[in-house]
Amino acid sequence: MEPDGLVPYRPVRGRPRLTYGAWVCDRCGRSTTRTQAHWPEGRICFTCWFTAIHTHGTCPVCGAERLLPGPPLPDGTPVCGPCAGIVDDFRCSRCGEESGHHRGTICARCAVRDDLHEIMGGPPSDPVLVGLVAALCAAKRPESTLIWKRSPKVQELLHGLGTGTIAATHEGLDTRPSRAAEHLRNVMEHHGLLPPRDRWLPRFEQWIDNKLIDLPAEVARPARHFATWHHLRRIRALADAGGDTQPSVRSAKQEITETVKFLSWLWSTYGRTIETCTQRDVDQWIATGPTTRYTIRTFLVICKRDRLNATVQLGHRAPKTSPSLTQEQRIAWIRELLTGESETLPYRVAGVLILLYAQPLKSIVRLQTPSIVDGNPMVITFGKHPVDVPEPFAQLVRDLLSHRTNLRTSGHGNPWLFPGTHAGDHLHPDTIMHRLRLIGMSNLGARNSALDDLVLECPPPIVADALGYSHQVAFHHAERSGETWARYAGRRIR
Ligand SMILES: [Zn+2]
Ligand SMILES: [Zn+2]
Ligand SMILES: [Zn+2]
Repeated sequence: MEPDGLVPYRPVRGRPRLTYGAWVCDRCGRSTTRTQAHWPEGRICFTCWFTAIHTHGTCPVCGAERLLPGPPLPDGTPVCGPCAGIVDDFRCSRCGEESGHHRGTICARCAVRDDLHEIMGGPPSDPVLVGLVAALCAAKRPESTLIWKRSPKVQELLHGLGTGTIAATHEGLDTRPSRAAEHLRNVMEHHGLLPPRDRWLPRFEQWIDNKLIDLPAEVARPARHFATWHHLRRIRALADAGGDTQPSVRSAKQEITETVKFLSWLWSTYGRTIETCTQRDVDQWIATGPTTRYTIRTFLVICKRDRLNATVQLGHRAPKTSPSLTQEQRIAWIRELLTGESETLPYRVAGVLILLYAQPLKSIVRLQTPSIVDGNPMVITFGKHPVDVPEPFAQLVRDLLSHRTNLRTSGHGNPWLFPGTHAGDHLHPDTIMHRLRLIGMSNLGARNSALDDLVLECPPPIVADALGYSHQVAFHHAERSGETWARYAGRRIR
């Protein structure tokens, strides 16, 4: 019998191959270069033989539960060896299982086990590795494991595991990054030999590095201390315990983002670091911006604990009966969205549209490109009436129109202003909400009614003015928008 089941072509002795496909398989009728078995039907090709030695079930002739290598009956059911007149003994001399032979008289599974033990320097004693060997031998097609283990990378890895130079843990596998290591990790996770590796944690670690990369050391150092010694430590413990880390990662990102903003402001405004920060700095920061600034509270607690600064503190924010938003906070958010980073353009545009027009997110995601007419000025139609989009917001929308993302996957015929990742879809409101939360805009949905009033009080052209955009430009639009806004406001008040 052939070693390893799948071997390169070797002509059968005494029957020289004449031309390609010189033989015809007597079972399937296909031309073949190789006869794998001679059974009562005649010559059997490799494909038919391989199928035969992997077919188990109840023989329709004798009723035995066993290997069914025999030719199929007219209805397609295969029969067992004796009933088909096949005299070969398919039993493994070691485990007794009826299947094709490898290396003399043993089955593929037993051959895999021998090989693994040899590569690993003997049968392992670590229960994790005992389990791994069992899992690899139990593969549906042990023949593929025989081929897989021939790779030098795989052998090196298995040898390391077997001899103890590579720990049979997630961390051990991390030291040999390769596809083979990931395959072993999957097998071990699947069989409960290793706890499932958390999907969010490695991405979060990457996110922290990216977040801090370009910051001055005065900002990056304390922010990294906070990220590492508070959040990462906590989330790693959670992941080790098998918990769902996604909600923690989300709120950690928000706290780190707010901390970075605070430290950057402190450094650029007063040239102070967290060590020299005063209570007055903290109070000023909280009093002059959106309520999300309260998120730095955890950072200050950790600074006190770790003696970076034990003098400043921030109480818990008094819970309000109804969510509210001040005009200052609204304008601060709009300013922030206008000056953010380009990779988050769709989310920034969505956020600006919410804050400028108090439109619910679910109608913003349904905006189609024809709803926007880039005239003088640009107008956008949410419902029946077009409303003005003054500069600099018009420019933001224009940027989005020329850089809509996800068009590669969903096609250029996609009409949505916010194309989703699937063909014909728009972005889901939750996706946008989640991203806005990451940049500190939380609870916007609940604030919609509060926003209505703020928009009437200070419509987009006046916001543009408040942000310091050319008074003339805002004034130029005032005449036109007077009417537009009266109509718009009228619709909202009813
Ligand atoms: Zn065949
Ligand atoms: Zn039978
Ligand atoms: Zn066996």
